[in-house]
Amino acid sequence: MKTMDFDVLIAGGGLVGASLALALRGSGLQVAVVEPVPAEATQQPSFDDRQTALAPTSRRFFERLGVWDAIESGATPIRQIHVSDRGHGGFTRLCAEEEGLPALGHVAPNRVLGDALRPALAEAATLFCPAEILDTHVLMDGAEADVRPMGRKVRVGTEAGEITLNTRLLVVADGMHSATREALGVGTHARDYGQSAIIANLRTERPHDGVAYERFTPDGPLALLPSRDETVSLVWTLPHDDAETAAQTWDDVTFLAELQAAFGWRLGRLESVGSRSVYPLAAVTAEAFATERAVILGNAAHALHPVAGQGLNLALRDVAALAEALGAVSVDPQVDAPASAIDPGDPEVLNHYAQARQSDYRRTFTFTDGLVRLFSNECLPLVAARNLGLTALDLFPPARRYLLKQATGAAGNVPTLCQSPSPSMERRENEHE
Ligand SMILES: Cc1cc2nc3c(=O)[nH]c(=O)nc-3n(C[C@H](O)[C@H](O)[C@H](O)COP(=O)(O)OP(=O)(O)OC[C@H]3O[C@@H](n4cnc5c(N)ncnc54)[C@H](O)[C@@H]3O)c2cc1C
Repeated sequence: MKTMDFDVLIAGGGLVGASLALALRGSGLQVAVVEPVPAEATQQPSFDDRQTALAPTSRRFFERLGVWDAIESGATPIRQIHVSDRGHGGFTRLCAEEEGLPALGHVAPNRVLGDALRPALAEAATLFCPAEILDTHVLMDGAEADVRPMGRKVRVGTEAGEITLNTRLLVVADGMHSATREALGVGTHARDYGQSAIIANLRTERPHDGVAYERFTPDGPLALLPSRDETVSLVWTLPHDDAETAAQTWDDVTFLAELQAAFGWRLGRLESVGSRSVYPLAAVTAEAFATERAVILGNAAHALHPVAGQGLNLALRDVAALAEALGAVSVDPQVDAPASAIDPGDPEVLNHYAQARQSDYRRTFTFTDGLVRLFSNECLPLVAARNLGLTALDLFPPARRYLLKQATGAAGNVPTLCQSPSPSMERRENEHE
């Protein structure tokens, strides 16, 4: 059987796996990606019909990876976020201009993200696709008395037959139902939200003007995000069965009338709807983010409710922090990092990474999960309190800024790759203009 050696082997070439491969480009580490579904295939589960709200931290990450221009040409800036509670008066607005920001984030179609990442991925890593991981075990080094794991042996099935890939670090980024995480023996804490999200694109009577609407309803949250060509991107959360019925059996007229009743008239009449897809929602967290010679990333590490558009943004901060921990990040984005002298699977490096990422994960999970719980409760004192809270947020700028920090991923320590270039870099760039 053919055998090849790598420093880092990434299981999953979706949004997160591909982003990590790019972040490691120029580090001197030999990187491979194993992915069963080609990025351009219509059934690719990561680069599908969804649109993703990217926080400013993610924009900076993609800028530093050199793929932002390709993403921005298909993305729509979010100028304002409008949050409301259906049937009750409370609402709040976050406005980019008032906060002195060019945009609160961008909405990018996942297919545009795929088109931007795919060509760069081909340069950054050896891609095995279509291919799947069959099993993995630890490779030991040293004498009997002093054995220590030196890497992982990974058996991979390809169209041309089985191959063996030896790697110093295995990165698991194969999604929420990760088979590779299971093969490592890492369990999960999982909770079904009892809800599914319907996604679709809509045409509306009034222009979106860059406003992202987040509306909480007793059935679940509903978001309408500004999108290109004056369309809006819908994420409508309903109990599982209702979502299936609404997506599969309602005709367009019924669908639009029910959605209009749930959303209201802020965008005028909802005029037409494109094809609809359904995503069952669960909170899934891996019991560990790192184990012997392996790191777990993206949805395989933590799948979140999409209510506040946090899942990928959190995952990209993990990717940035991991690239940094592996010595693959240059302070100056114009210059590649010096070839990394770090053993990428060193347990100390991995444990430090996993511990350092706990606080961002906990903060983001609590924010997301807390929103779902708070707004799905119809207990009257709580309804009154949250509506008072929304109104207070609208009137009280420091509280609004706190919410903004959570929503834009800027709370806590932001990894270097997700930060703006240093002031001296900015000065240098301006001098070149
Ligand atoms: C409806 C919805 C809306 C969302 N909106 C937002 C948003 O606005 N903002 C935001 O930040 N996040 C959002 N998210 C979350 C975001 O989509 C996820 O964080 C992101 O998809 C995670 O990417 P991933 O690469 O970890 O996993 P996935 O996207 O699931 O990709 C996994 C990859 O692994 C591959 N794979 C599968 N099995 C194997 C195997 N055995 N071996 C190797 N590879 C394998 C798959 O083919 C795929 O390419 C949303 C999620 C949903 C459901």
